[in-house]
Amino acid sequence: MENWEKLSRMPYKQIKELQDKKLRAFMANQIYLYSPYYSNLLKELKIDPLKIKGIDDLHHLPFTYKWDIAPTDEEPQKAKDFVIRPDEELTEKYGHLAKMSMTSGKAAVEEKIYDFKPVHIHFTTGRTAMPTPFVYSKRDLDHIREAGYRLLDVFEVTTDDIVVNCFPFAPHLAFWQTFFAGEKMDVANFHSGGGKIVGTKNLMDAFEYLRPTVAVFIPGYCYYFLREAVKQGRDFSSIKKIFFGGERVPPGLKDKIKELFKQLGAEEVMVLATYGMTEAKVAWPECPSHEEYHGYHLYPDLEIFETVDPESGDPVGEGEEGEIVYTSIDWRGTAVLRYRTGDIAKGGLLLEPCPNCGRTVPRISSNIQRKSELKEFSMTKVKGTLINLNNFFPLMMGHPDIEEWQVEMRKRNDDPYDMDEIYLYVAPKENVDREKLAADLKQKVLRDTEVSLTDIFFKTVPEVVSQLGMETELKEKRILDNRPN
Ligand SMILES: [Zn+2]
Repeated sequence: MENWEKLSRMPYKQIKELQDKKLRAFMANQIYLYSPYYSNLLKELKIDPLKIKGIDDLHHLPFTYKWDIAPTDEEPQKAKDFVIRPDEELTEKYGHLAKMSMTSGKAAVEEKIYDFKPVHIHFTTGRTAMPTPFVYSKRDLDHIREAGYRLLDVFEVTTDDIVVNCFPFAPHLAFWQTFFAGEKMDVANFHSGGGKIVGTKNLMDAFEYLRPTVAVFIPGYCYYFLREAVKQGRDFSSIKKIFFGGERVPPGLKDKIKELFKQLGAEEVMVLATYGMTEAKVAWPECPSHEEYHGYHLYPDLEIFETVDPESGDPVGEGEEGEIVYTSIDWRGTAVLRYRTGDIAKGGLLLEPCPNCGRTVPRISSNIQRKSELKEFSMTKVKGTLINLNNFFPLMMGHPDIEEWQVEMRKRNDDPYDMDEIYLYVAPKENVDREKLAADLKQKVLRDTEVSLTDIFFKTVPEVVSQLGMETELKEKRILDNRPN
């Protein structure tokens, strides 16, 4: 990997040259030779890997979709074909290595193991699809560490900071990216596992005892945690920055979080988002700012981002809205090319130097319609119209009169052939006029999702929190699809 300080000041032209060079080498020396899936695909489609000379030639390669990788009952081992493996035995057994050590010596064997042997694994968090494994070699772990260093560097975290990691323990990117980042940056870390592991009360105690300056959270749980803390009159005055990961951060939520921190004694807390995906094996930091959104800084020596028209797949121009397409150029373990993320970058891909920090690495706009958590049914058919359930998130999370909420889809009388119904459960803030709120929500839900609610039920905060599984589930169940198949 390149030196980050150097890379983030490099003129874009030079960055592109570097990416072209790395892509060429990656295609010829790794993908074509050692990736079973792509090697077969290129042969089948009669694509000469040497024809891919740079970013501008990427369009010769077909897209890779989630379902190309996800295991199925028929092909449970599918994801293995996306692992770069110079030979079967290296990843499976040691037969070949034993031979190699006699001829080339121990160092050569160790180097191969460092490069290729899978030693760490993450899974995607699909709700309906089977989880897909993504493996890392030791070399890859050095990359995720370096990515973590870059993330904290952009966030201006220093060795004086104290970080509490509130992501649940899980074989997921969010938790481990935070773990490796803290380790590489030499900061004091408490990897708590969040309320699900240590309990919300103990986590609050830890905040008061350790006096952390930084905390890392899933947005929905953070909001719940802080409201509980306010009720208990806790002192979180040591907090300077909050980093979110794991799901999309609706802009209205950032303000709510800042407001809660004021009540907990922490003024001017900076609330920052990360964008990450299991398939890319790293997360990227949003450029820190209190007001404006300058986008996420990318790592151009590790990957290429394209933005394409989600319908036609044709590239869109710089700064234009498009679906994010990811291509790996320097990974071992699992590697994907032209992966259709399903995430829409509203402000597109930005290649100008960052107006906020001056870094020259490409940026992807802050406003990402993140579909991953709900990808399987985000564009679902309710009442015969295709609706975008993601639009509930900014609307509900940013609404000033709402504390907690949940959406449930059902069939009338639980009859699979009957009408779709969509219910909204709302725990309003105190002293809110419920009639007015209900009218407001009905109108806004129709405006933002193009579906009219069957009904709205008002509930208490503990009731909705328990329905959401806030303390028990890995991710809260914000949108429930209880329609029988
Ligand atoms: Zn910046």
